[in-house]
Amino acid sequence: MNVKGCEVEQQKPGGAFVSFKFSDTLLETLASGGYRLPTPIQRKLIPVLMQGNNAVASAQTGSGKTLAYLLPILESIAPKDTSTHHYTKAFILSPTKELAQQIYEVTKPFAAALGLRAVLLQGGGKRTDEVKRLERGVDIVIATPQRALEHIEAKRIDVKAIKHLVVDEADMMFDMGFVSYLEKIFAVMTERSQKIIISATITPRVVKLAKAYIKPLRRVELDPPGKVADTITQFLYPVVRSKKEALLAWLISSNDLKRVLVFVRKKELADGVAESLKEWGYKVGILHGERMHQERKKSLLAFREGRYQILVATDIAARGLDIADLEAVINYDIPHVKHDFIHRVGRTGRAGKEGMAITLVSPDEIEQLNDLQKVLGSKIKEVIIPEYAPKEVKSRGYLLHPPQRKRKAPSKKKTSTPGMTKKGKKRKTTKRDGWKLFDAAKENGKKKKGRK
Ligand code: ADP
Ligand code: MG
Repeated sequence: MNVKGCEVEQQKPGGAFVSFKFSDTLLETLASGGYRLPTPIQRKLIPVLMQGNNAVASAQTGSGKTLAYLLPILESIAPKDTSTHHYTKAFILSPTKELAQQIYEVTKPFAAALGLRAVLLQGGGKRTDEVKRLERGVDIVIATPQRALEHIEAKRIDVKAIKHLVVDEADMMFDMGFVSYLEKIFAVMTERSQKIIISATITPRVVKLAKAYIKPLRRVELDPPGKVADTITQFLYPVVRSKKEALLAWLISSNDLKRVLVFVRKKELADGVAESLKEWGYKVGILHGERMHQERKKSLLAFREGRYQILVATDIAARGLDIADLEAVINYDIPHVKHDFIHRVGRTGRAGKEGMAITLVSPDEIEQLNDLQKVLGSKIKEVIIPEYAPKEVKSRGYLLHPPQRKRKAPSKKKTSTPGMTKKGKKRKTTKRDGWKLFDAAKENGKKKKGRK
């Protein structure tokens, strides 16, 4: 396994997990999980947390923040002898059920090896099962805020005993309106418990919350906010709004994308886009907040296992998800919240792998695009496909930035742009492009539509 920014670390001597003086069991579990070397955020945050400090920490998505807080906690609460009884020592909060589940999956093998019990408490989960497990005794609770508070208020969790509290994806907690739950939870924690806030971006709201409840506080930051990983290649496709669905289908087909995550702003749009992709003949899953928990779980699993080629998701539903081998992220539109763009794009190019991020922009989104480019700093490469591009863009030859003319360097190997030839012309449609299949799917879709 390999993670963003880790190559450099690997060349340094003494960069192993052993340097943190973890127990043998923890080190063995890390090794059997395939974790060889700590990522940069792990190197930086683990020592701070092992000294018992409170912290607010940030690093880009996919940088390994989960283990960065989990390992010191596990080391701290690992039973020293077999007689230790089970009570809540670590409390980890996550904004969505999917993320809570993901943290739970990472925790499980470590908990099993160390003789600790972990439980997942989340809306949609069976309350009676949760109560039973809490009554039996657990060491680590991973929960969504509302459900967590419910159990705390019902006195099923002894908050006085909690040694470590983590708020993961804190900026998203605000976006989802969970701050009042967090404040209530913070208010009942003891002063001596270690408090950790984790966020991909430390927004002013996060700082305000941290300062109100956590003293003293260490700030551990890795990347400047708004950074897209270097492993991700980005493209921008100007498109007439009414042709977005067709361009989306064409991009997936012509780039032969096997696993692609499509982001849309609104849940209604997610349903519509998914429906239209199905009509083109694709297997598509949907992930948005309005869907039932079981449906979300099913869609995500089918996508992870490759039974769905495409997952259409809203920002809230897909934030923080770790999906292996995601070739590409396609932004059907520009997100409401600018930093969501970084999160969307961060779903690909994870664990040091190459990824591609494609953004479709229609003329009514130019203002948002301009704002976004200010946040990103760098320009995204524009690709104009005459059939789909707005008239004015076609005649001008670009949307925001005129292409820079480079001097010829004939011997250098050129990289190709999706849907284009190496010379920058639109590629001729051949069988290899999957067009035959694509046309067939299109016909099929039309027929189906006609039958309705
Ligand atoms: P973040 O919370 O920063 O977005 P995650 O904690 O979800 O990132 O980790 C991203 C991916 O990196 C996961 O697939 C995880 O298994 C992997 N990972 C984390 N730490 C390491 C490590 N030290 N070595 C190898 N892979 C790691
Ligand atoms: Mg995370």
